[in-house]
Amino acid sequence: MINGERTTSRPLRWGMVGGGRTGQVGYKHRTGALRDGTYQLVAGAFDLDADRGRDFGVNLGVAEDRCYTTYQDLIAGETGREDGVDVVSVATPNFTHFEITKALLNAGIHVICEKPLFFTVAECEEVAALAAEKGLIVGVTYGFTGHPLVHQMAAMVAKGMLGDIRIVDMQYTHGFNAGDDDSADAVKWRTNPATAGATFVLGDIGTHLYYLSEVVLPHMQIEKLLCDRKAFIPSRAPLEDHATVLMHYDNGARGRLWVSSVNAGNMGSQRYRFVGSKASIEWSDSHPDQLIYQVQGEPERIMHHGMPYLEAESLAVDRMGALHTEGLGDSWSNIYLWIAQAIDAKTRGDEDFLKTHHYPGIKAGTEGVRWLENCVRSADAGAAWVAYE
Ligand code: NAD
Repeated sequence: MINGERTTSRPLRWGMVGGGRTGQVGYKHRTGALRDGTYQLVAGAFDLDADRGRDFGVNLGVAEDRCYTTYQDLIAGETGREDGVDVVSVATPNFTHFEITKALLNAGIHVICEKPLFFTVAECEEVAALAAEKGLIVGVTYGFTGHPLVHQMAAMVAKGMLGDIRIVDMQYTHGFNAGDDDSADAVKWRTNPATAGATFVLGDIGTHLYYLSEVVLPHMQIEKLLCDRKAFIPSRAPLEDHATVLMHYDNGARGRLWVSSVNAGNMGSQRYRFVGSKASIEWSDSHPDQLIYQVQGEPERIMHHGMPYLEAESLAVDRMGALHTEGLGDSWSNIYLWIAQAIDAKTRGDEDFLKTHHYPGIKAGTEGVRWLENCVRSADAGAAWVAYE
């Protein structure tokens, strides 16, 4: 169980680029990072609007002279100080991730970056090489995968409790873009290929599904996929507001994934069903406390987080204990803690720890971008089956 006790050498001096007052995801980062005293927020270039960013940073408790106008100023200011930041989170629109991450790494600062990590696998590989050369960590905030029931699912699959995995069924949908008003800042950049990259909903929400499936099914690789995508609001083309992806895995399993932001009226968010030869499991972040476990020929079971009957891997990362809600904020806290432990190990030169330590890092970010590249290649070929590259 995680109880806030320190597991790293010292609190990390932490900064943020983006995630300002009007940003959608900034508070999730702060919820994750500031929970256990593992990070201290000491600097930021929080906002494109520098005055608003400074005012916001001061209200968060950051010293005014460490609320910077741009990320370049942040790097210049922080590298000039003895107590400069150890790590910076990048919570800005997609097109800025690559340039900001590279600049931070070049300045010797660890990075925690939003998904989708970059636009291309080639960019991911360039940054992976740079981080390795500099001895720095790149974490990626796939925030849902810290939940203890995700790790329960992974443990059940690893221990053979489902048998051989046959079917993977995943959905992340909402209806917030069912209408054609794309004027809000956060929608405007998401629906423009220059600022979002080659995808809208596939990158925005589909990468969460894909990474969670990698955590639960690390032994399975996609062999080929077919992606069919469509912009129901034509002005969003060539980006999609809806997509379905079929996947064939190397163990013979079949996968089906649906992402959409035009699923009018739907607030279901994410749903996962993993079907094996003996049993199935199903989890949704609408009811994150519960995992449905169905063994063929037996009554359905609903497993609750934090209960002693769960696997040790799940109980080890539980925070609230059974009876009390464990949700997205707790999951983000685990992700931030695991990244802090990776940074701490890297700083101590403990490569043995890093060999087995689980956290979403540069590889997870790269595989998300690789999956997107394959989806786009298939969709652009007229929803054709393509070999996974
Ligand atoms: P947003 O448009 O709501 O907010 C972006 C924030 O970044 C704003 O505060 C803006 O002023 C600031 N900003 C933009 N460019 C900047 C720059 N160059 N320097 C400093 N600040 C800058 O966007 P959002 O929805 O918060 O998304 C940001 C990123 O987070 C995207 O990559 C998105 O895909 C990702 N995201 C991830 C999750 C998740 O669950 N992990 C959830 C939502 C968004």
